Amino acid sequence: MLGGTFDPVHLGHLRSAVELGEALSLDRVHMIPAAKPPLRGEPSISPGERLALLRLGIGDTPGLVADARELDREGPSFTTDTLASLREEVGPAARLVMALGHDAFLRLADWHQPERLFELAHVVVIDRPGIDTPLSTGLRDMVADREVEDTQALMSTPAGHLLRLRLPSRMAISATDVRHRLASRASVRYLLPEAVEARIHVYGLYRS
Ligand code: ATP
Repeated sequence: MLGGTFDPVHLGHLRSAVELGEALSLDRVHMIPAAKPPLRGEPSISPGERLALLRLGIGDTPGLVADARELDREGPSFTTDTLASLREEVGPAARLVMALGHDAFLRLADWHQPERLFELAHVVVIDRPGIDTPLSTGLRDMVADREVEDTQALMSTPAGHLLRLRLPSRMAISATDVRHRLASRASVRYLLPEAVEARIHVYGLYRS
């Protein structure tokens, strides 16, 4: 799974999801918008609109799935609940991977039941250009015994390891920058899929 706010989805998310699937030989990558992200403010547009943009962004990309399960739940969108429901679907023996960017990883120790994440899945941290803040001591302690060096180490177990991964097309695109550009009427061409950009313009999203 690659969870996120997707406010809005951009090519950094989508290209990372494709390359993650290839690097780890995954059957599919579920991109899962958080209805109510617990650790950040209310997103700029509704969960349903973020999901609609995500669906457009994915289009017919093989291996990528726009997964609405967090929108169907009440309360904060805890990733442990999401992983538990994915685990139930795939069974105890399947490899399950939770991927997140390095910026999100830096806050992992503040998440709801962070240790439980590793019981349910492997955690894969995707390198993001320009973000190289060192880990806090708490986070370093939490992952110390779990870290593995290469993708091969994730192949034979269903959960429990941490891998830091540098994907081939690292993209310095962020949704924050996209929102700022839209608010100031600057171009977002080639930062987003064209269909996503078109819908944003048609509905006048992120204008203020
Ligand atoms: P914002 O700027 O609003 O914080 P964002 O661009 O970081 O948004 P999120 O929806 O918060 O997007 O990201 C979802 C997940 O995708 C997070 O784990 C994040 O680290 C990761 N991610 C976002 N952009 C990139 C990128 N360009 N390359 C790799 N990973 C990314």
